Amino acid sequence: MKKLVVLTGAGISAESGLKTFRDSNGLWEEHRVEDVATYEAWVRNPALVLEFYNQRRKQLYEVQPNAAHIALAKLEEKFDVQVITQNVDDLHERGGSSQVMHLHGELKKVRSTADPNLVYTLDGWELKLGDKCEKGSQLRPHIVWFGEAVPLIEEAAVLSSQADIFIVIGTSLNVYPAAGLLNYVPGNTPKFLVDPNASPMPWIRNLTIVKEKAGSGVPKIVDELLQKD
Ligand code: NAD
Repeated sequence: MKKLVVLTGAGISAESGLKTFRDSNGLWEEHRVEDVATYEAWVRNPALVLEFYNQRRKQLYEVQPNAAHIALAKLEEKFDVQVITQNVDDLHERGGSSQVMHLHGELKKVRSTADPNLVYTLDGWELKLGDKCEKGSQLRPHIVWFGEAVPLIEEAAVLSSQADIFIVIGTSLNVYPAAGLLNYVPGNTPKFLVDPNASPMPWIRNLTIVKEKAGSGVPKIVDELLQKD
């Protein structure tokens, strides 16, 4: 089976109703990223950070996967599909994808501030100050905040280097190190980029740019790949 690797960003979930932040003047749901999605913000105002992620988590229970998430799952009929997502939502899983790596963490999980290996799935949407891990320390969102290390990046780079086909969807390719994964994909591997605002990238070999929204562009590529290979 050919290995098909998919790198996704906030844009794939936009049509499900989850806002990207670069499309909203650099704000994420009315907040500056530095105020809610950094370790410094957590130290300064943990209540605000918890509330921000509680609202994101609550919203997640109100949205559904869209045609793009669902089409990607269909690729598993013919390919060994690995999704690498920068998204913290669970719409790939709910769309049916079985191998999903969350580079930047997962909204529905929380972890200990004392021991990063203590990760829990939260019941419901609300994490409060005073909610503690089994060792007695405050729980925090299981999110890789801006400025924090991305523990899964090396594994993602290896997967990217093994791709027979590579598809990038809905990412501004501005957030590193995730944006650098394209550089690990072999030059002769066919690559697709689906984003209505994509810019040309002449330095990437074998790249087809589809300037469409994910909900229409992804199902087209999926149908093509399922018919061809
Ligand atoms: P980004 O906000 O920087 O860029 C979004 C990209 O999606 C843009 O290039 C835009 O043109 C494109 N886009 C917008 N609508 C689209 C559509 N309908 N179909 C296809 N593409 C569309 O997002 P990023 O590069 O993923 O970086 C944002 C960071 O913020 C990520 O690391 C992520 O962790 C976090 N984030 C996550 C979510 C989520 O989990 N749903 C939402 C917002 C931000």
